[in-house]
Amino acid sequence: MSDRLKGKRAFVTAAAAGIGRACALALARQGARVFATDIDEKGIASLKDEGVAEIAKLDVRDSAAVLAMARRVGQVDVLLNAAGFVHHGTILDCSDEDWDFSFDLNVKSMHRMIRAFLPAMLEGGGGSIVNIASAAGVVKAAPNRYVYSATKAAVAALTRSVACDFVGKRIRCNCICPGTVETPSMLQRAATAGPDGRDMFVARQPMGRLGTAEEIAALAVYLASDESAFTTGVAHVIDGGWTL
Ligand code: NAD
Repeated sequence: MSDRLKGKRAFVTAAAAGIGRACALALARQGARVFATDIDEKGIASLKDEGVAEIAKLDVRDSAAVLAMARRVGQVDVLLNAAGFVHHGTILDCSDEDWDFSFDLNVKSMHRMIRAFLPAMLEGGGGSIVNIASAAGVVKAAPNRYVYSATKAAVAALTRSVACDFVGKRIRCNCICPGTVETPSMLQRAATAGPDGRDMFVARQPMGRLGTAEEIAALAVYLASDESAFTTGVAHVIDGGWTL
């Protein structure tokens, strides 16, 4: 426990597993009062024993629920949007429904969250918004990540727009672009690729290993904290050299 985020209130989506969970825990360890949410209520239950102040169910695809949550929580200093889904396939595998689902969960969720939480952040004198994008789509193309990449490029653009519009009002908005990070959903994707699936993901990493959710969370803590006070509108790549 340290105090890099002492006195700050932080709100995290998709905090039951993977990167969102690691971020919620890291923010709490640095002294923030963390409000952690997910659709998976069981998954967030244990966070309270690990220093997270409050937990609640929140489906980021539900506009009414997001608005109600923003009213309930009020002002936060840090908003971390982690929810996202990886669709597998090319344009030929992507139906209109697949496109709409991916854009709703990966992009419109961030629009909903920021639009709901920003007014209180402005009233409170500012804050830091951190969106989880991806190196795929923002920096490079990856095979079979057609709509996923399109959504993450949109997240980077949305991030820059918010940063630009509110730069004079003490609101910062940055996104994180991870490479391949070992999380429950990533391991599932590897398993569906066959018994060597995980090795295939490792093989494309110049560092010879996958990233950890904790490494992504360390960057999220920096972006959430005042240490990054001069940084806004940036897409931070953290990918073990994947995009070199
Ligand atoms: P994960 O699948 O391990 O965890 C995702 C969490 O999102 C789960 O707890 C799930 O319950 C929650 N969730 C799903 N739908 C939701 C909804 N409608 N409302 C609220 N919560 C919902 O995910 P992860 O691999 O840690 O990925 C987290 C983010 O990081 C995503 O945006 C993903 O695109 C991005 N990312 C991941 C990787 C990677 O390799 N794991 C790489 C780049 C970017």
